[in-house]
Amino acid sequence: MNGEFHTAASRLRALRAAMLGCVRCAALVGCRSQVVPGHGAAPATVAFVGLAPGRLGGDRTGIPFSGDRSGELLRLMIARADLRRVFITNLVRCNPRDGRGRNRDPSAREIANCRDHLAAELAAVRPRIVVCLGAVAWRELAERGAPFRPRRPAALSGGGQLLYPIYHPAYVVRGAYPVQAYAQDFARLGRLIRRLAEPPRHTDVSSAGQFADSRPIWE
Ligand code: URA
Repeated sequence: MNGEFHTAASRLRALRAAMLGCVRCAALVGCRSQVVPGHGAAPATVAFVGLAPGRLGGDRTGIPFSGDRSGELLRLMIARADLRRVFITNLVRCNPRDGRGRNRDPSAREIANCRDHLAAELAAVRPRIVVCLGAVAWRELAERGAPFRPRRPAALSGGGQLLYPIYHPAYVVRGAYPVQAYAQDFARLGRLIRRLAEPPRHTDVSSAGQFADSRPIWE
């Protein structure tokens, strides 16, 4: 294992150990089965950020987006688009439930409490691009007011990374967006990632150097 890989992987292991004991949100400590840190390649080329582990998914398996229909769909799309060195995580690392034991959205306070866990994971795995799964992740990570437009996606540069909008897989699972269109969105993301991997060319306006100036990049 070369030095860069070793450092990223060991930083992630240390973060994970620290997160497992997190007690910042009393309500989540009361309803979670376990803390669910991000999981995947370190260093990563692409990181996906969802909302929070699901009751039937990460809360059971300990791995974000696994064991439930959203997770299956996300992982199928990743495989079909041939994305490599993928890291998958969430805004919040514990499963939020309502009084009747059903999944609920995390509160703004819970998202804020988990924000530095997310930032530390992303700093450790240093993805070239961070894909926000759904409007909540986009709103949290993109500049205030940047519209969430996964049908006409613009990669925004922010915080040293590119941010890219894609619908949350649950939106597709419940039939609000066709699977075929979703697969095309992932194929488009794959093309963008492959373009980012190309060495910059002076005449190429989509080269990596352009990303430094915060302008949206239309795919
Ligand atoms: N599973 C996750 O890990 N995150 C989500 O946002 C939904 C399901």
